[in-house]
Order: sequence, then structure tokens, then C-alpha cells
Amino acid sequence: MKLKVNPARCLRRWYKDSTCTLCAGSCPVKAVEVKGRDVMVNSSVCVLCGACSSVCPVGVFSLGVEELILSMEPGDTIRISCRDSGENVLSTCINALNQNHYLILASKFNKVVVDARCEGCPLAKGPGLAILEGIAGKLASKMEVVRGSGSPSPLLRRLTLKRMMVEGATLISPPLGAIASLVYEPVEVEDSRTPERARITFRLKALEVARALNVTVKLLHPAVDTSKCTFCGICAGVCPTGAIEFEEAGILRIDTSKCVGCSHCIKLCPDNAMTQVESEEPGVLEYTRSMTVCPRCGYIYPASLSECPKCSVILEILKDIYKGNPGDCREYGERIREKLRSQR
Ligand code: SF4
Ligand code: SF4
Repeated sequence: MKLKVNPARCLRRWYKDSTCTLCAGSCPVKAVEVKGRDVMVNSSVCVLCGACSSVCPVGVFSLGVEELILSMEPGDTIRISCRDSGENVLSTCINALNQNHYLILASKFNKVVVDARCEGCPLAKGPGLAILEGIAGKLASKMEVVRGSGSPSPLLRRLTLKRMMVEGATLISPPLGAIASLVYEPVEVEDSRTPERARITFRLKALEVARALNVTVKLLHPAVDTSKCTFCGICAGVCPTGAIEFEEAGILRIDTSKCVGCSHCIKLCPDNAMTQVESEEPGVLEYTRSMTVCPRCGYIYPASLSECPKCSVILEILKDIYKGNPGDCREYGERIREKLRSQR
């Protein structure tokens, strides 16, 4: 098993003001670090528990769990365990699973039995247990959770071995890379900006399943205050999942099932017209407004605004430069345009 990492998809790379640290905060062995616009995984420490892959909203990390679940034939019972392997066992640490994974498993199997004998395991600091508790309540009739402590998982042995190797390496100080490669190189880095469509499709499938199983899933997404929105379309351009569609004719659509709640559109909206809200039913929010074309600059803006927002910004700047009355600036602009028109 390998952890594939695609740092180019990270929200921090896309938007310099992103403060996302979900992956680093969830890693129980502190193998993930986010620094400025970079996300890095220390392969000498990573034990492949999959915590980063279950929490990253844009699919920077992949352990291949989604593909594995989708390829499973439906059956009666599936066991999830980090200790066992074989038929009808999904062999993984529960840190690698989020709500969407459990929902799709519950749609394929009559019973999902989770081995959560995590007491004493240092990896229990990851997000897996809390996610499991949240979904187990909702899927009560289909899920059975075995709690307590059990035999050490192979991940724990791997963790101990890695600590010995890494700490030993600093004591005897050969090049760390040489020692780490003796252990196993579990992390593969690929740097491509191709959006993670497979993860979004998996999420949509999970939402469908939630509806079919009558499970309530809380969705965080933006809502638009149309009295403030100038329909500039910036939100649609910055959304990493394509959840927002914008048409110049004055239509803004938000597909809440595609939204991963990253808040980038909200933070980057120049008119502060978006707020984050919570809903339980996925759907498409549509906002419309009649638009007009500015005869001066050609910018398309809501007809209800008294003047073109682009020109008014320019007028403000001119006013600042000339310290005069904005009316004079408007007149000044008209004179220039008149002159240009006469020269055509
Ligand atoms: S969770 Fe994903 S988007 Fe957020 S910092 Fe980590 S890699 Fe980037
Ligand atoms: S709609 Fe906004 S909050 Fe949702 S994924 Fe797109 S940018 Fe992020």
C-alpha cells in the first residue's frame, strides 16, 4: 500500500490566504507538515494510517480506499479491521475512513462490523474514532462497533520500527534518507493540478446513499445575499470543486452536494455577499438578477445598482488622485471618451 500525495491540489497552493491545516492536525504521528503554501509528508515517519486522506477536502492524499470500496461486490457482512485481512475484510486503520466510506459500505453490505479496539493505540489520536462514533449512531441498524483493546495492529509495529530507525539514525548519523529507504518508501508524490474528480464523484454517491438510507448528513455551504452580490463571478472561479456556476446573464448556481465547505468563495468575495450556512438536503441554490451592460466600460452588472461597480471604483481612485469632486472625474472621463469616439 502506498500513500499518493498530490500537493498541487492543496487549497494552500491555490489560494495564498488559505489557513487549512486539516491534514497536519489529523496526523497522529506528525508526519504531515504544512508550511506556507506547501504540504509535506515525512515518509520516514508516516505509517499509512490514512488520516490525512480521510480529512483533506480536495483529495491531496490517496490510499486507494475509495477504489477498493467501489470494486467490492455486495454481500452480507463486511469487517473493517487493521489486524485482519482476507475475504470480506476491509483491511485498514479506521483513520482512513470518513462518513462517505461508511455510507457506501452500508449500501453494499447488510452489516458493517468495525473492529475499533483502539484503546492504547497511539493512532487513536487520529480522526477515525470520532468519525466512526458520529456515523455509527446514524447507521445503528447496519453497523456494529467492537470497542476496547486488542492485539497490537501491524501499523503499531511499523510505527515502533520507524521510531527505532529514525531515532537510531540521528544517534549514529548516517544520511537519514539511506536509513529511511531501508524501511520502506510508502509515499509517492505527484505534482499535478488536475482536480480530484474521483473523490467528488465518491462524495456524490455517498450523498445519494444517505438519502436512500434516510440518514441525515449535514452540509456546510455558502449562501448568497443578493442585495450585496454584484454577480462578478469570482466565487465560481475560485471554487476548487466546481460547485458554483456563473452565467453573465445574471445567474449564480451553487450545487451544495459538490461543496466541500472550504469557505474560499466566502473569503474571496469582494462584496462580502456570501455566508456559510448548514443544510441537511443537498440541492442547487439558484440566484438570478437582471443585468445591464455599462455603456462606458462594457462591464455587465446588476440593473438595480445605480452605477457600474467597476466605473465607480475607477472614479473613486480618480477622486483620490485628483482630490476633487467625483462628478468632475466623471466629466473628465466623458471628455476622453468623446474624443476617442470622434477619432474612430
Ligand atoms: S487538508 Fe488538504 S487542502 Fe488542507 S492543508 Fe492539508 S493538503 Fe492542503
Ligand atoms: S462553494 Fe465555496 S465553500 Fe464550497 S467548495 Fe466551492 S469555494 Fe469551497
